[in-house]
Amino acid sequence: MEREFDVVVIGAGPAGEVLAGRLSERGGKRVVIVERGLVGGECSFYACMPSKALLRPAEVLREVARVPGAAQAVTGELDVAAVLARRDSIVNHLDDDNQVPWLQARDIELVRGHGRLDGERRVRVGDDVLVARDAVVIAVGTGALMPPISGLAAAGAWSNREITTAREVPGRLLVLGGGVVGVEMAQAWASLGSRVTVIEAEQRLLPREEPLAGDELQAALERLGVPVRIGVRATEVAREGGEITVSLENGERVTGDRLLVAIGRRPLTADLGLETVGLPGGYIEVDDRLRIPDHPWLYAIGDVNGRSLLTHSGKYQARIAADHILGEDAAASTDGSGAPRVIFTDPQIAAVGHTLASALEAGITAEAIDLPTSGTAGASFYGRGAPGTTRFVVDTDREVLIGATFVGPEVADLLHAATIAIVAEVPLGTLAHAVPSFPTRSELWLKFLEAYERERQATLHAAPPLAAAA
Ligand SMILES: Cc1cc2nc3c(=O)[nH]c(=O)nc-3n(C[C@H](O)[C@H](O)[C@H](O)COP(=O)(O)OP(=O)(O)OC[C@H]3O[C@@H](n4cnc5c(N)ncnc54)[C@H](O)[C@@H]3O)c2cc1C
Repeated sequence: MEREFDVVVIGAGPAGEVLAGRLSERGGKRVVIVERGLVGGECSFYACMPSKALLRPAEVLREVARVPGAAQAVTGELDVAAVLARRDSIVNHLDDDNQVPWLQARDIELVRGHGRLDGERRVRVGDDVLVARDAVVIAVGTGALMPPISGLAAAGAWSNREITTAREVPGRLLVLGGGVVGVEMAQAWASLGSRVTVIEAEQRLLPREEPLAGDELQAALERLGVPVRIGVRATEVAREGGEITVSLENGERVTGDRLLVAIGRRPLTADLGLETVGLPGGYIEVDDRLRIPDHPWLYAIGDVNGRSLLTHSGKYQARIAADHILGEDAAASTDGSGAPRVIFTDPQIAAVGHTLASALEAGITAEAIDLPTSGTAGASFYGRGAPGTTRFVVDTDREVLIGATFVGPEVADLLHAATIAIVAEVPLGTLAHAVPSFPTRSELWLKFLEAYERERQATLHAAPPLAAAA
């Protein structure tokens, strides 16, 4: 049967849902959303939400242990069954029945099934064809990337789906990949009692972040008893009985009961009918309106366009694409590799904008100011001397902040001030009038401005007097 709508959305993850909601609420559009799995997408059930549910209890316990008075009151171990039960309740037992009413309340029609493009403005779901008057929006997300390592497929390796929904703590867990998913899951399950080993091919964990972030996190994982093998690739995987052996290129072998593969993501575009509109597979290239070049009726938002694989980036893109479909001159500007990102380990890592290396690579005259994250009066309450460094990166020609990385306990909520300073390009001279309250950890901003000024003064005094130089 053929039916007509204003907009057809494929994929009801966070990006698809936000776009559909905005088109309906703001523009009164008649929207249909096609979902083959659970409404809420990977994020709600197999990614952001369960991973944070697994990490948070141990984080709270460590936080308490750093605060004398409270530490004496809380001396027990984590209750693993209670942690897993809370995780199950946060993912609503893998049922989307509390997400669907959100769509219904906005008159968004939900069609369950696998959607494929079927020529211009047409999406086929089984025998149904949904025709779009205004636009089709692809929001199908990504799945785990499984590398072509010999023996991997036969060994029954886990992806983010199995590790975030595991019902038991693996005795020994091998984690292939020291990016965000790998380190979060390594710390979560180690805290729940698993003996975890992390294997990362690059020279440090979190290779795209400031080096200090990966180094400090590695130290924290090692304190927790998690060995971290860096700069070494896995060459072969074998399973014998219940035991998995991973051979490394340096000849070493590591063994475990479960193997998590967390080396990256792949766009779910293989069976999407892209060829029916003349598009190749892979990540879908879009312009800043999230529109596919030469296809003015077709948009791709969220993970599937590869710009920034984060829920908040997908939701931002959803707002931009919706506004563009509604006829506004909207364009995305802050969803690339510098988008805000938080890694919910302990210490937490929260970063936005450039790293020093990426700034220098982009040809910016940049300087880094490093400070101890616990170097304020406000930080005493989080445990004075808690490890962690904060780095601010300044464009010294324009005197604006272009990057910030916070490492330390509970730093996620420190990030948004840096995001605002960067997006609004607030001059450092103006930032000096943004007074942080005492005693809060936001006084880090004062420490940063003071340190920057000291460095500037030192540079000025070090330079030869102009007359002498001439
Ligand atoms: C372990 C883990 C932890 C993460 N933690 C965070 C975090 O803390 N914060 C953060 O910002 N990001 C996090 N992410 C990233 C985040 O999960 C993604 O960026 C986000 O889910 C992308 O949203 P999306 O809407 O683009 O796609 P998805 O959430 O993947 O949703 C896409 C939907 O499309 C459906 N679909 C796919 N193909 C079809 C089809 N052909 N027809 C119909 N339906 C289809 C899928 O079933 C799915 O429901 C994490 C990722 C992982 C793996």
